[in-house]
Amino acid sequence: MNNFLMGRELLQNELDEVLPEKWEGMISTGFIEIDKQAICRRCGSKRLQDRQLNPCNCGENCFYCIRCLQMGKIKKCSLLYYLPEKNQFFPIKEPILTWQGQLSIQQAFASKEIESTIKASQTRLIWAVAGAGKTEMLFKGIEWAIRGGRRVCIASPRTDVCLELAPRLKSAFQNVEQLTLYGDMEESYRYTQLVIATTHQLMRFREAFDVLIIDEIDAFPFDTDKGLQFAAQKAKKSTGTIIYLSATPNKQMRRDIEQKKLSASILPARYHGYALPEPKAIWAGDWRKAIVKRQKKAVIYKEIERLLQTHRRFLLFVPNIELMLELSNYLEMIFPQYLFTSVSSEDENRKEKVQNMRDGVYQFILTTTILERGVTFQDIDVIVLGAEDQTFTEAALIQIAGRAGRHRDFPTGEVLFLHYGQTKALKNAIGQIKKMNRLARKRGLLIN
Ligand SMILES: [Zn+2]
Ligand SMILES: [Zn+2]
Repeated sequence: MNNFLMGRELLQNELDEVLPEKWEGMISTGFIEIDKQAICRRCGSKRLQDRQLNPCNCGENCFYCIRCLQMGKIKKCSLLYYLPEKNQFFPIKEPILTWQGQLSIQQAFASKEIESTIKASQTRLIWAVAGAGKTEMLFKGIEWAIRGGRRVCIASPRTDVCLELAPRLKSAFQNVEQLTLYGDMEESYRYTQLVIATTHQLMRFREAFDVLIIDEIDAFPFDTDKGLQFAAQKAKKSTGTIIYLSATPNKQMRRDIEQKKLSASILPARYHGYALPEPKAIWAGDWRKAIVKRQKKAVIYKEIERLLQTHRRFLLFVPNIELMLELSNYLEMIFPQYLFTSVSSEDENRKEKVQNMRDGVYQFILTTTILERGVTFQDIDVIVLGAEDQTFTEAALIQIAGRAGRHRDFPTGEVLFLHYGQTKALKNAIGQIKKMNRLARKRGLLIN
């Protein structure tokens, strides 16, 4: 029981076991009042529009918080049970780090910086291009923390990313107990020294982690959800470290780096030493019309045909699901000899289709931004159709371009931004990629 609650703040209905008669932890109400403002203890919301009136037996004007409702209803009269984190872990048998790979020069440098950041309980951003190999550079720092009995969490806004990280950490730290927390998990919670969690799950922790690493901080919904950002700060001990990882940090973070308010390690090169493929912007005219009116001679079909004829496999990004399906129907008519499919966030067979694409079943795959990050395919080209569309933000375009050339054996690839007028986001994305390549070259990190 003690372990179960350690570092966590839970509602009564979230406690698996009955509370011991003599409760030694802390009990607080769901909201705290500061300056006559009620603040949700779990997500930090003070906004009146996040309150929903609730008919309740408590006799007061009761309400609950909408912003964090996804994690269960927290009412004004709810009680939260919290037990301070005491780091009651058994010493782990050596070697703690069972990973035996080799770090690149740039990875080794960042690894040292991460380790000293953790030792000094500071905050650091790791700004690493897609394919830099950021997970491996965390290992040394994590090893040091684990050996010292510290509690470590690696969180990501995306379940996919957590599920991909878990087996890699399991094999890198074979003697360390770990648990992966996410919305539909089947395993029940247990107390472990190493935790992998979606950022939503951080809401159930308080002052728990000595080291909190947040991957893909610029990804939805963490980038815009203040409740998740609050939860991350709350889940970390006040004396703890936060390490942020991102390939595309937002403007605020970039400004903080420039103004030296945020320490950062910038990794402009991929682990294999080849430059990032630089996207080509190609004028495609009214490509929407070319889809709807089925204009076979349009630029978009020519580019698709060119890749097909050279036997290249590719990802074809389309701004929305309707257009994607429309285009898919027409492509089936004009290219009947090629096998392909389409995926979106609404697709139940997404995982299977992505796996089939990996296995080489399909020549290409049509997709929305759902595949912009977190997925890796070998030897792939990328086309973004309608790159000027507002769904394709600067960060999205950089992430998408980062799908090409990731594998050591296939380190290059073509990235095409087909557009009907270049946006600022499009120009900035290409500019940013070129800038990283220049920086990598200047530091002598490129082999091509
Ligand atoms: Zn809340
Ligand atoms: Zn109530």
